[in-house]
Amino acid sequence: MNKIAFIIGTTLLFISCKEKVSSEAEINSEKVTSEKIEIEPTQPEETEIWEPIPAKVNPNGNNGAPSDAIILFDGTNFDEWISAVDSTEVKWTLNPDGSMTVKDKTGDIQTKQNFGSVQLHLEWRSNPENKQTNQNRSNSGVFFQNRYEVQILDNNNNPTYVNGMVSSIYKQSPPLVMAAVPTGEWNTYDIIFHAPEFDAEGNKTKSATLTVLLNGVLTQDHFELEGTTEYIGWPKNDAHGPAPIKLQDHRDMSGVSYRNIWVREL
Ligand code: MG
Repeated sequence: MNKIAFIIGTTLLFISCKEKVSSEAEINSEKVTSEKIEIEPTQPEETEIWEPIPAKVNPNGNNGAPSDAIILFDGTNFDEWISAVDSTEVKWTLNPDGSMTVKDKTGDIQTKQNFGSVQLHLEWRSNPENKQTNQNRSNSGVFFQNRYEVQILDNNNNPTYVNGMVSSIYKQSPPLVMAAVPTGEWNTYDIIFHAPEFDAEGNKTKSATLTVLLNGVLTQDHFELEGTTEYIGWPKNDAHGPAPIKLQDHRDMSGVSYRNIWVREL
């Protein structure tokens, strides 16, 4: 009996010592790690990172777009687009100059492809013949994931609510500045959109963000969206995944035109 007790006791002592040694080793390892981080490098090479090497992109390698861009519209066809109303072919007008124009009351158009986070480039032009006021003068817009609108509007001598101005994030964020060119000239939008994230229960865990440059001028600086950009009511935050990019037919004879649309997936 004493012999059995001795064996059990010795075994327990051995396990206990082993755990202690292991735990001390972990502590020492953490100390070493933490000391390494705390010691400031004294040689330039110590803070150099050589890999992985970023992929090479030719900025003008794809008909004027970056070589890794997806061309959504190059002026020759609507192949990348469908009607957002009924998924039939686009009924907007394809112009001889390589642009397209919203055809009134035919509805929004959207990409066939779904997208998450993207860098988008597009060019748009307001309609000089459109002399309406407020939100009815050359109103269109680009929606990310079919839900989040960056406003397009002719605001030259045309006041409106500031969170509905050109380059606003509709009903959420006025532009930092009004950087549109004169009515009828081509504007460029370069937009970085980061998609929102949701957990398995459908709760939002990360808000979408938008950074917008209008004609090279920063108008939205990494704005964190409150949810969808609603015409009436509060922003919504229902869970969703990748979704199309949409261009708006505001149904008011807007006459807005588009050209050179490309996107890079992030
Ligand atoms: Mg709009």
